[in-house]
Amino acid sequence: MTATLELTESTYLIPSGSNTGLIIADGRALIVDAGLDADTARRVARALAELQARPVALLLTHAHADHFGGASAIAERFGVPVYAPALEAAIVENPYLEPQFLFSGAAPVPELLGKFTLAAPCRVSALVEPGPLDVGGIPVQVVALAGHAPNQVGYAFGGTLFCGDVFFPSETLAKHPIPFCADVERALDTLRRLPEMPYAHFAPGHGPALADPAAECRANADRLLAIADTILGACAAPASTGDLVKAVMDALGATLNQIAQYCLAQTTVLACAAWLRAQGRLDVIFADNRMLWARTAA
Ligand SMILES: [Zn+2]
Repeated sequence: MTATLELTESTYLIPSGSNTGLIIADGRALIVDAGLDADTARRVARALAELQARPVALLLTHAHADHFGGASAIAERFGVPVYAPALEAAIVENPYLEPQFLFSGAAPVPELLGKFTLAAPCRVSALVEPGPLDVGGIPVQVVALAGHAPNQVGYAFGGTLFCGDVFFPSETLAKHPIPFCADVERALDTLRRLPEMPYAHFAPGHGPALADPAAECRANADRLLAIADTILGACAAPASTGDLVKAVMDALGATLNQIAQYCLAQTTVLACAAWLRAQGRLDVIFADNRMLWARTAA
């Protein structure tokens, strides 16, 4: 198992499939994000023993199963309260909403009920909003980072910003070429703002912490813009959402063959199509009982 990485004298990263952050002040620890499952609680317990710190709270950046799947195990094992932003907190407490929204609100098929899309439920003790937040006497800054998830936030302390899934490292973008995105306008704004923020370390949910995330933010923004461009191109003739998913996957040279993977890709494609429509570049038309995306005359 990878060792805990020291970012500053008060912030640490426990690298995993989904990273967990630690903020340590006066022998007390805030845990940032909970990983995929109960294994995270074991990793956190080991790290806290090494650092001789007592856990006081779990802070969640956003409600994707790979970031809060271990939340209930952490809350139970350490007896700590859980903090999360509004809306995300509703999913943390009712995780069935995640596979259900991925399946257009219908009761999801079994393939969406695995641990990558359906986490264990966890009670949220307090909602967080952007701005200063006192957690048991530890002053953290809550930073608005919406886009990847509707109300994602980051947590900053001591020169480190734990920034959730604002950007994915280039290896992840190569492997999963469609970055999950709920809201393109807000994601692009967050990706523009992040490199300007005054932190020495940007610790993402996946991949290593970076001193300067500008290149990664640019690459993630460029990928969203490329997907939007492909969608515009595919709408030379009116196209269904399924046609757009196919066009985007073809353009990226990738293959879809799993329901969960398809539903995740479709969400980003819909977010891009909705963004283009808000800009007046696409519209929706109905023909023969099909809802189609079509370029506007402009
Ligand atoms: Zn995520």
